[in-house]
Amino acid sequence: MNRDQMLERALSRRNPWDVVVIGGGATGVGVAVDAASRGYEVLLVEQHDFGKGTSSRSTKLVHGGVRYLQQGNLGLVREALKERGLLRQNAPHLVRDLAFIVPAYAWWESPFYGFGLKIYNLLSGRHKFGPTRRRSKEATLRHVPTLKADGLRGGVVYYDGQFDDARLLINLVQTAVEQGATVLNYVQVVGLSKDAKGVVNGVELLDHDSGARSGDPAPAPVRVAARVVVNATGAFCDGVRRLADPSASSTITPSQGIHLVFDRSFLPGDSAVVVPRTPDGRLMFAIPWHGHTLVGTTDVPVAEASLEPVATEAEIDFVLETAGRYLQKPPTRADVLSVFAGIRPLIKAGTGKRTAALSRDHAIHVDGSSLLTISGGKWTTYRHMAEECVDRAAKLARLEARPCVTRTLHVHGYHAHAAEFGPLAVYGADAPAIQELSGSEPRLSTPLHADLPYIGAEVVWAVRFEMARTVEDVLARRTRALFSNARAAMAMAPRVAELMARELGRDAAWKERQVAAFTELARGYVIQ
Ligand SMILES: Cc1cc2nc3c(=O)[nH]c(=O)nc-3n(C[C@H](O)[C@H](O)[C@H](O)COP(=O)(O)OP(=O)(O)OC[C@H]3O[C@@H](n4cnc5c(N)ncnc54)[C@H](O)[C@@H]3O)c2cc1C
Repeated sequence: MNRDQMLERALSRRNPWDVVVIGGGATGVGVAVDAASRGYEVLLVEQHDFGKGTSSRSTKLVHGGVRYLQQGNLGLVREALKERGLLRQNAPHLVRDLAFIVPAYAWWESPFYGFGLKIYNLLSGRHKFGPTRRRSKEATLRHVPTLKADGLRGGVVYYDGQFDDARLLINLVQTAVEQGATVLNYVQVVGLSKDAKGVVNGVELLDHDSGARSGDPAPAPVRVAARVVVNATGAFCDGVRRLADPSASSTITPSQGIHLVFDRSFLPGDSAVVVPRTPDGRLMFAIPWHGHTLVGTTDVPVAEASLEPVATEAEIDFVLETAGRYLQKPPTRADVLSVFAGIRPLIKAGTGKRTAALSRDHAIHVDGSSLLTISGGKWTTYRHMAEECVDRAAKLARLEARPCVTRTLHVHGYHAHAAEFGPLAVYGADAPAIQELSGSEPRLSTPLHADLPYIGAEVVWAVRFEMARTVEDVLARRTRALFSNARAAMAMAPRVAELMARELGRDAAWKERQVAAFTELARGYVIQ
């Protein structure tokens, strides 16, 4: 994961890459892991940091999707439940079983949801998590003592998976590299080249990192040749398609979802709460996550994708109001530690306005120029999506057919008992090395903020082994400080900049620019 070496490898190569992947989210990185582990020569480029897009902004559930069951999409549910099982098997350090409580306030809710969730469990076949059971009022309150007791009749408990999306993404990037892929963050595709027949045969790359070091503009784009180009740019995919064909029509309807993060007192136990039907026809989750309470989400159409989508006042009110209906102590704006938004790349269907009703299936689309676009889907199904995509890409580029091996491929960091590493559990097998690093220097072992568990050694680790280039990379995605507590993250920024500057050999001006840029960004995660 040395960026300079990766850049050199990408730019010095004379032969075409077998596969160039555009986009460093779950979809693109999944494709890179799949293609590299089949033995193809792969280059992946991400315009910002890995996971900057939607893939760090999810609800953090590895799930079949109870809502898709409500919609009758049994195929998607069954596929996702199978992938849920494979992900827990291949990345047990990051995926854990979580009990979900559906509280019942009306007489019919317990039998109705109990029946549906039993089917959900049955659909998981041999990839079962825990059993679905109906619970009395007392047992429901034992799971979630902060639920409104007034009018509560009981509840249903079922099990699904929970993970840390950005950490899984970084571990998948590392897996891709271990399988031989070349990966670059801060490299944007700004053009696509074509042969005489109009077939896409390369990409034009712009390296934003070189300019950012000095504050100078980025150097001129460089062309790299490819046998097949995979466009995995999520909500941005139509823009990339238009680099090949300016008249390409849209295939994506972008839809925004937000989350609010509170302290642990709102959900002190180990169980999550699900509201099975909100007024906009969705499910709302309240989930214990990294010592905090994560609540969301919404589903609102937006005109276009952005790397930093902003939660609207209406969305914030909606989440607060819905949570307030079910929790004894209704959360207020003052309780919000962080607010973040993400954009779903939903597959377009007709002209309807309700994005909540649009399918969460994925789609693979080949344009007249042979540019292959993969979009839609869910984090949970990234592996299956990648398998289908690489099968298709290999045929398109006439690569030698090779079987997919990711069903049993361990994700970097694989460790069956990572909980023993305490706050470093998300690093799995890497945790002992980080512990050793933290013991090497006193300032690497002290917490960077009293309210969060992160230590200096994680910053150094992120720079040395996880390609972190900016303070934001460390505070938003290598650690989850920004998503847990935005004010605390702002307070951590100067120390993080200091540690990073030492590792990367940057000067005082760089540190100042980094802290200023991060502070500006983090203000968007605070409710004023
Ligand atoms: C609110 C919300 C909650 C969700 N919750 C869940 C959940 O709990 N469980 C679940 O399974 N799924 C969930 N999802 C869905 C899941 O997060 C997405 O399906 C998934 O993250 C999409 O990944 P992606 O790689 O396609 O897109 P992205 O993560 O957005 O990645 C695309 C990347 O392409 C890059 N890019 C764009 N243009 C270029 C270019 N020209 N050159 C180079 N790079 C470029 C972008 O910078 C971006 O990083 C949720 C989605 C949302 C919005």
